[in-house]
Amino acid sequence: MPIAGSEIVKMLPGKKPCKDCGFPTCFAFAMKLASGGATVDKCPYLSEEVKAKLVDLLAPPIKLVTVGSGENAVKVGNEEVIYRHEKTFVHSPGIALLISDKEDGAEVEEKIKKIKELQFPWVGVNLKANLLTLHFASGDKNKFLALVKKVYNSTDAGIILISEDLDVLFAARDICADRHPLLYPITKGDIDKAIPRIKENLTPVGLRGESVEQLIPLTIKLKEAGIEELVLDPGSKNLLEAIRDQTSIRKAALKQGFRPLGYPTIAFPAFMAKDGLKEMLVGSAFINKWASIIVFSDFDKYSLLPLLVQRLNIYTDPRFPMAVEEKYYEVGEPDESSPVLVTSNWALTYFLVSSAVEAAKVPAYICVKDAEGLGVLTAWAAGKFSGDSVGTFIKKCGIENKVKHRKLVIPGKVARIKGELEDALNLKWEVIIGPRETTGIGAFLPGLAKQLKG
Ligand code: SF4
Repeated sequence: MPIAGSEIVKMLPGKKPCKDCGFPTCFAFAMKLASGGATVDKCPYLSEEVKAKLVDLLAPPIKLVTVGSGENAVKVGNEEVIYRHEKTFVHSPGIALLISDKEDGAEVEEKIKKIKELQFPWVGVNLKANLLTLHFASGDKNKFLALVKKVYNSTDAGIILISEDLDVLFAARDICADRHPLLYPITKGDIDKAIPRIKENLTPVGLRGESVEQLIPLTIKLKEAGIEELVLDPGSKNLLEAIRDQTSIRKAALKQGFRPLGYPTIAFPAFMAKDGLKEMLVGSAFINKWASIIVFSDFDKYSLLPLLVQRLNIYTDPRFPMAVEEKYYEVGEPDESSPVLVTSNWALTYFLVSSAVEAAKVPAYICVKDAEGLGVLTAWAAGKFSGDSVGTFIKKCGIENKVKHRKLVIPGKVARIKGELEDALNLKWEVIIGPRETTGIGAFLPGLAKQLKG
């Protein structure tokens, strides 16, 4: 629960506005701290004790944890609200694929291939699963370590290591420590032995309890030992318990500001469901109900894509429409006489237009103008898709170097910008009024392409 500026100011030195922090008064500084716009180190007169207390109070209610490194690092946590409509969810859950060391070489290769190749371009973003979970199940330490080495050397994906045997867990960690792997599970029974080994090379730790309550002393103990990148598993045995436990953890962290439960969570549909379809349904429930990392035993493109789209929908900021980048896009392999269409950058608009062009089997350029994520007609009404602004975009986006003709198709719904747009383009382009709906593109585009080919 974020602390208010009026509470923070009581902890500040209250020197006559010395302004050394860069703010006119202690109160102004406190307000800035509360909104996240300043850091405590700006005031040189705070004692170490007060500084540490403030850092703790100002920390996000759910700790940010990073699994993996570089471009493929998966960040989870840092959430601020229980329900998406209150503001937004911040870090979408990591989707992990489980590989057991009992699986044969071909199965392992197949799963590595899946994590690398199952990617889906979707309304301007690239959807994919992003973690591999390696499970020590064979009882053969060397076999497991060989699996860890293989995965480490053949992918850049973030890694979760599962072993009930601490020696094996830490030996595996040492192989891939620079990948910042998540070590799972640390339990009540082995936490004291594990702490010094975790501290040898700090990476995130997955704590498993037999209940939410049992996790509390464990997180306190690890925090006191300086180990703070924690992920929680309350040991739920079925979906009903899991939803109850995820809800308790989330509410304790965000509503009560209860720090010992202020960590991301991990869930294992892989171990909770017996068949593939049920596993996907359980995983889908975890996407809705707050799991931060979700581990699946397997998936293919048909089962993974719906989960990724669901994740995208839930973790998209509801305050802003989804938008694609302003630029020209190529559909198929267009050449210098291919049609050029212009539209706005609402992701759904772009998706519908590009799908219709693709379905028409006519290679074309789609110039997507930034309209702050609004659809064409709304953007026009808001003054963000006027003839002038579209003209300026067409001149600067580089499409003039891609085609030798000068014919530009605008959406039929904004036919009224034709004259203004032609003026903005210094009468060098002929503006053609296209279909009002994307459903008309299939009938419209082939004729235009034929005409342009001459
Ligand atoms: S530097 Fe510290 S004491 Fe001085 S005005 Fe800022 S907050 Fe107050």
